[in-house]
Amino acid sequence: MANNDYIVVTGGGGFIGGHLVAAFRRKGHQRIRAVDVKPLQEWYQRFDDVENLQLDLNLRESCERAVTGASEIYNLAANMGGMGFIEANKALCMLSVLINTHLLQSALKHGCKKFFYSSSACVYNADKQKTFEAPSLRESDAYPAQPEDGYGWEKLFSERMCRHFREDFGLDTRVARFHNVYGPWGTWFGGREKAPAAICRKVIEAKVNKSKEIEIWGTGDQTRSFMYADDCVKGTELIMRSNIIEPINLGSTEAVSINQLVDIVEEISGVKLKRKYNLTAPKGVNGRNSENTLIKQYLNWEPDTSLRSGLEKTYAWIYDQYAARERGEAGVIRESSASR
Ligand code: NAD
Repeated sequence: MANNDYIVVTGGGGFIGGHLVAAFRRKGHQRIRAVDVKPLQEWYQRFDDVENLQLDLNLRESCERAVTGASEIYNLAANMGGMGFIEANKALCMLSVLINTHLLQSALKHGCKKFFYSSSACVYNADKQKTFEAPSLRESDAYPAQPEDGYGWEKLFSERMCRHFREDFGLDTRVARFHNVYGPWGTWFGGREKAPAAICRKVIEAKVNKSKEIEIWGTGDQTRSFMYADDCVKGTELIMRSNIIEPINLGSTEAVSINQLVDIVEEISGVKLKRKYNLTAPKGVNGRNSENTLIKQYLNWEPDTSLRSGLEKTYAWIYDQYAARERGEAGVIRESSASR
């Protein structure tokens, strides 16, 4: 076994990082290192046969420890959340630049060959997202730069840093722009949750409490596409193995309005709720969809899990988590067994 053969997943205690670690295990990888700033008992998915490290990757020395012996690094660590969080925490979001910068420097120093960066659809120019008709954003629409304030600027800058580390220092970098990822084993309460999880939780709360009402942020006409976690993991792996060196969209093209998203969750739940629109709540851009010409050209594939089937699994998982909390069991149930 070579020395430099660890697969390192940063943000491994989080939502997408946890799914990525689980996928590498299922494929039989023996040397996986997962790193997160959260205490181990708070990780969504944690596996005994993975090296799990609690480190603050804002710090250069933590990044050096994290990447020692790594052949590949997947950087999924960032201080982030849904619109409510990123609009209220712009400086914190921008500070994630420290994580990616120190990881890139450490990767170079320790001879790591390949580096993946998880960017976001929030890099796209706000002027191109003013209509509610879910404008499809192609990769070139990130420039001229006018991204989401705070969070989006950090993503765009870090994408660029990956490019220049590749061009100037020869580090083989890959960058995917994720579009709204959802699924089980992610944040569903507490202020950092994103729309699909938040709506599942609110519908469950209304059902359990028989309140018959749901609050929606904005008019509900905002449009988005949502990508199921399994597609995100598959796309991430395919992009890392490909020769796609420019940032590329990784998202579904099944755009819906937030009202339509609520319709689907209500159907799954078997309830119909009165909608109360909170027009002062953060709602982000009016419309956004992924444009997938490039990914289909390169990979002959695009995310294809239907929103309905992904939401059924997500709803069921959040329902179980909610019930566990109601019974007074600790926050989230974790997968810590070594079974693959
Ligand atoms: P998440 O919040 O569940 O996971 C991020 C993890 O990073 C968390 O567990 C957090 O504790 C960890 N982290 C934060 N600061 C850290 C630090 N200083 N040191 C070590 N770990 C730290 O979020 P996620 O949804 O899994 O997102 C993963 C990546 O994908 C992020 O870069 C995010 O910006 C990007 N992304 C996500 C979405 C989405 O819809 N979920 C969309 C676009 C981009």
